[in-house]
Amino acid sequence: MIYHSLFCMTCKKKLKDTQIICPKCKNVYSLVTLKYFVRKKLSTIEEMYRYFLPFQLFNHNDFKNCSLSKYGDGLWLKDEGLNQSKSIKEKDILIGLKCAFYLGYKKTMCVSGGSGIQVVSSLSKNTIPVTLYSPTSTRILVDNQILMGNDYEETFRMSLKMQSDDLFNITPGINPYSQEGCKTISWQLIESKIKFDIIIIPCGNGSSLWGIYNGFKEAKAKGFISKIPKIFGVELAHGPIHHMLRTGKIRVNKNILNSKAISVDVKESFCLQKASYATKDSHGGIVKVSESNVIDSYNQIRLANKQISFTAATAFAAALKLRKKNPKSIMCCIMTSHH
Ligand SMILES: [Zn+2]
Repeated sequence: MIYHSLFCMTCKKKLKDTQIICPKCKNVYSLVTLKYFVRKKLSTIEEMYRYFLPFQLFNHNDFKNCSLSKYGDGLWLKDEGLNQSKSIKEKDILIGLKCAFYLGYKKTMCVSGGSGIQVVSSLSKNTIPVTLYSPTSTRILVDNQILMGNDYEETFRMSLKMQSDDLFNITPGINPYSQEGCKTISWQLIESKIKFDIIIIPCGNGSSLWGIYNGFKEAKAKGFISKIPKIFGVELAHGPIHHMLRTGKIRVNKNILNSKAISVDVKESFCLQKASYATKDSHGGIVKVSESNVIDSYNQIRLANKQISFTAATAFAAALKLRKKNPKSIMCCIMTSHH
């Protein structure tokens, strides 16, 4: 027996395939996720792509296996900036778009103020139309891009109000199908046969962290690994996920730092309940990094002649901090983008 369904993590209600927001809980924070029922025994990790991604629409070759390179003792870098659109978001948007098409939508929308803009424009050329919504401070970079809202959070909230029956919102921050994309990163790491103790990922909404955690969790349930690595997210000072881990409460961060690491300099993380659950369950956590940590890390990676964004550099900065407490651990930093 093989099937999956959407369910709400708060009220546990099973939802229809198109209900990406729970009609009972109605929260702007992402609480809906997918649960898979796969009784079949799987013999290779490649089969995870078929049975643990939505509607059995995908296979191993649909996702680029971006380079994993050793950077010093026990430290590896997985460079998702090597995706065609130079961003980790490519894996999420690919799934969001294909699911929208499968579910019969003719139009989609996606909110992004950063690297998602190029991703959407490069992937959507041959599929269904996407309207991109970006904050008014963003430059217009592509066709079908509309500016609204003063910041990402406002644009995100406005987009949820625009939802209609013929329009699918594929923004990874809210769409549970899109959030499945980063699971493939975990499976690629398992394929490498390196036994990672710690995975480190920069957090804006926290959806990539959630995806990576689920990829490992499902692979463990199917017997491909015996232990889920500790998953650590990276935030700046006053990060919303760290606040939730400490207090159990959602707080809007009023202290935006205007950091160079724009994708982690956020007021709200719309997947924070999921991200905090994943860090707790895997015995990881949140590492906070300062602007000088970010700039030092960026310069260090650039000296090694590697492309990197300031956001991606936060993962490396966090690894240097974790290294002090975990000198023998094998760690992997997920470098999220080149821009
Ligand atoms: Zn609910």
